Amino acid sequence: MNVIEAAGLTKSYGKDTTLVEALKNVSFSIPQGEFVAIVGASGSGKSTLLHLLGGLDRPSGGTVRIDGEDLYALKEKERAVFRRRKIGFIFQSYNLIPVLNVEENIMLPLLLDHRQPDKEYIRDLIDTLGLDQRRKHLPSELSGGQQQRVAIGRALAYRPAIVLADEPTGNLDSANGREVLELLKLAVKQFHQTVVVISHDMNVAAEADRVIRMQDGKLLSDTRGGIVQ
Ligand code: ADP
Ligand code: ADP
Repeated sequence: MNVIEAAGLTKSYGKDTTLVEALKNVSFSIPQGEFVAIVGASGSGKSTLLHLLGGLDRPSGGTVRIDGEDLYALKEKERAVFRRRKIGFIFQSYNLIPVLNVEENIMLPLLLDHRQPDKEYIRDLIDTLGLDQRRKHLPSELSGGQQQRVAIGRALAYRPAIVLADEPTGNLDSANGREVLELLKLAVKQFHQTVVVISHDMNVAAEADRVIRMQDGKLLSDTRGGIVQ
């Protein structure tokens, strides 16, 4: 079953002289449990695509179905709840809440939904992220690598069906980058989550099940099995 279905997606920004067609009729589907890398030059539409898959923006045309649900047919509020349950986001800017500690930041999506956290899973997750000695620390007391790992913890805490990540290893040194990649792979293997990652990192593209290459707002190629850029 396809957990993500994008059909005829288009997205324009601005108008007249400032008109940019960021996405031009992009269609593909992704089954549950696949690790997909999105690659392509800067400005080719990768972030726009990821935002639309995650319900963070509105397409100019076309549809996104997540678990069969037409994302943009949902009302704004319904979409926000749906998104929090189904999709974990990892951005380059970590978007951590400065007044909440590591544990609280990671559990935030659950707390917002008044869900009981699976304590054992959260503890394991924090351990796997190498943050067990940092549970009670604030984001400002962490290194960049540690903050990125908290953001990943928050994205995984719900064990969402889908994890969308925009350059998750972009700000990290190679050891931390490697660790993050391993965590994402674990999410796919252990929990059969679907991971879609924008990355310039050769390691990520090489280890993905599938590489979608964007060029000038279009899907240039869609290949299976770790094709290196
Ligand atoms: P990528 O992630 O591959 O670098 P983006 O999706 O960020 O590409 O951008 C695709 C195109 O859309 C670019 O030409 C970019 O300048 C334009 N664009 C992206 N976001 C906006 C925005 N909020 N307003 C206007 N133009 C935008
Ligand atoms: P990294 O290699 O992950 O970037 P750093 O060299 O920046 O790590 O940090 C090394 C250690 O110092 C980390 O364990 C981190 O918790 C701690 N640390 C980094 N920045 C701060 C800070 N602003 N306040 C308190 N501790 C910090």
